[in-house]
Amino acid sequence: MKSKGNLIVISGPSGSGKGTVCQGLFKELDNLHLSISATTRKPRGNEQHGKDYYFLNREQFESLIAGDQLLEWANVYGNYYGTPRQPVLEAIDGGLDVILEIDVQGALHVKSKYPNCVLIFLIPPSRAELANRLKNRGTDSNDAIEHRLQWAESEIKKVREYDYLVINDDLAAATRKVSAIIIAERCRPGLF
Ligand code: 5GP
Repeated sequence: MKSKGNLIVISGPSGSGKGTVCQGLFKELDNLHLSISATTRKPRGNEQHGKDYYFLNREQFESLIAGDQLLEWANVYGNYYGTPRQPVLEAIDGGLDVILEIDVQGALHVKSKYPNCVLIFLIPPSRAELANRLKNRGTDSNDAIEHRLQWAESEIKKVREYDYLVINDDLAAATRKVSAIIIAERCRPGLF
């Protein structure tokens, strides 16, 4: 029996729907753990500390880096984002598949440290659709939206370094595809 969980990394531009897909996975699959990242970005809308992110100031975040308590971290749009290491390793040891919803820099860093991790890239069907989703979300200024679109284009160029690409033109279908990938990965013989 395979006793350890898999490390599943999901990336995609802001507005690709990855947050919603990740939530949907919990309705389809058992034995999952969603990693909660730390960030220095300010909470958006009704985001909550400890649920959506651990919202920290720069000093607090830098002390996590200094204490080697992060599995990976990156600077995204001028803010720090990072994955607390301990909860991830504990969940994997406990046989849960851990979902990291992180950017491309972080994902490639995780892959270099944990080559067995599974990288999934979620992409919106077009740039126009991505721009629409960011505008409709109503949480970002026009400047921030333009910045996120440019960032998205630079991230999308790295898609070939991922194991899987899922186009999110239909939320339910994209969630089913990601679930199917996770189920298939559970069937790999690994070191058995
Ligand atoms: P947002 O501010 O829209 O919540 O996230 C901005 C970007 O940061 C997204 O691409 C998201 O996946 C990424 N991100 C969130 N948490 C982490 C993390 O812990 N590490 C890294 N490297 N990126 C993260």
